[in-house]
Amino acid sequence: MNHRAGFVNILGNPNVGKSTVMNALVGEKLSIITYKAQTTRHRIMGIVNGDDFQIVYSDTPGILKPKYRLQEAMMSFVNVALSDADVILYITDVSEKPGIEKVYTERIRGSGIPVIIVVNKIDLSNQADLEKIVESWHQLFPDSSIIPVSALNDFNIVALLKAILDILPEGEPFFPKDQLTDKYERFFASEILREKILTNYNKEVPYSVETEIESFKEEGGLIKIRALIHVERDSQKGIVIGHKGAMLKKVGTEARHDMEDFFGRQVFLELYVKVSRDWRNKPMMLKKFGYR
Ligand code: GDP
Ligand code: MG
Repeated sequence: MNHRAGFVNILGNPNVGKSTVMNALVGEKLSIITYKAQTTRHRIMGIVNGDDFQIVYSDTPGILKPKYRLQEAMMSFVNVALSDADVILYITDVSEKPGIEKVYTERIRGSGIPVIIVVNKIDLSNQADLEKIVESWHQLFPDSSIIPVSALNDFNIVALLKAILDILPEGEPFFPKDQLTDKYERFFASEILREKILTNYNKEVPYSVETEIESFKEEGGLIKIRALIHVERDSQKGIVIGHKGAMLKKVGTEARHDMEDFFGRQVFLELYVKVSRDWRNKPMMLKKFGYR
């Protein structure tokens, strides 16, 4: 088989189990929970490599709240999620009426991107009801695989993976398949720190901040992380540090706890705040932070 590679974007309503499905597919807890919509500029990714494939997953953390949002806002989000997808995983669960979210289903169908319907939480259903649900989805998406799973119990996740590989395009890997660990460990450490900045400061600060993992070293069962928080202006540096350093300390403690959960190791985290004047307008800085 030729090498396959692609972006698999996960869509669906809140609470259907998107994060749980992604974690089951990736086999590790990678998704970062956050309480403010539109917080991460990079969407959260999990990457799974095999000898002859690379799947880049992207989760959509808490952004889709169709019941409470303007339709246009939701549409534009769905459009973004669709724009770079090779495969869409549309996650639903056994309690959702098939096709009730017309906005999604019609937009997704209209995109022409291959979609797999994942019916999650089948542990909460029975065979007869499940057959009806699958049949209704089949009517709506006649060309798609409908895969019933129970992500919580890792049930049928292999079949889902197989369905993804079946329609993943042929192509070279997007990310190097060697030396992945360090790169992704840094990426997730940086995302965890960024999340703590987003949840601890108000107003413009989070959007003027970029996080950078300057060094990441494993030493005797301990991970030593040195991270920089770049801000655009001196005034923001003061806000980030807070009175007598209290805010930075809080951010550091929360980030360290989450990093320890994530990496399963004790973490020693050093944080520095640096004024990188106007970094948003400097191509070299943007490139360094991974924007294209
Ligand atoms: P998301 O908002 O779509 O990302 O949903 P989450 O992955 O956060 O899951 C929402 C809730 O559904 C959590 O309480 C999960 O534990 C639960 N859940 C996820 N998958 C399953 C499943 O297969 N069966 C059951 N019974 N619960 C599940
Ligand atoms: Mg989620």
